[in-house]
Amino acid sequence: MRVLLVEDDGMIGEAVGQALKDASYAVDWVRDGAAALTAIASQPYGVVLLDLGLPKKDGLEVLRALRLHDNAVPVVVVTARDALEDRIRGLDSGADDYVLKPFQMGELLARMRAVVRRKGGASGPLLSNGMLTLDPATREVSSDAIATRLSGKEFSLLQALLVRPGAILSRSELEDRLYGWGEEVDSNAVEFLIHSLRKKLGSDAIKNVRGVGWMVSKER
Ligand code: CA
Repeated sequence: MRVLLVEDDGMIGEAVGQALKDASYAVDWVRDGAAALTAIASQPYGVVLLDLGLPKKDGLEVLRALRLHDNAVPVVVVTARDALEDRIRGLDSGADDYVLKPFQMGELLARMRAVVRRKGGASGPLLSNGMLTLDPATREVSSDAIATRLSGKEFSLLQALLVRPGAILSRSELEDRLYGWGEEVDSNAVEFLIHSLRKKLGSDAIKNVRGVGWMVSKER
């Protein structure tokens, strides 16, 4: 899943960005509110981590602009402003959740998973199409025959497909969800990941729609 990190503090940005990458997210990092809006307009982010005190446009302005234009991207506000009033204004402006600095990375990651899950309409923590069940907290996938853990990119690809079983995603749509700015993407990277997923999960786990892309079936 691709994340937009909006943070003007260099040290916090570096640390959170690295921790997100370690947790298998593709991360784009911008340092002001105007750049955040530009990025969100051009990429399919799974979640936005938004600081409130930002140059150019502050976090609340960014949030209001997004919601005004019916952009429903999940937003977790991450900020040191701990005044109750700021928290209320953030939530009223369309934030999906709130994390106060300083925070434990584990809590931020859990809140991100929860927000993505709620926005996706899932009630429980697991993603499933009836045949495969994926646990975003552990990256473990299971079916009748197997239970196995996936690599970061394998997980991201399967997650992208399992969010909407039956929907076809093209190579470039998958690349947009799997890789951040500046990440080297081999021309056959997606095929390679599909191949390794099929080896782990069985050849019919992921279906190829020739010339269009890939999908997981809606039900068995
Ligand atoms: Ca700030």
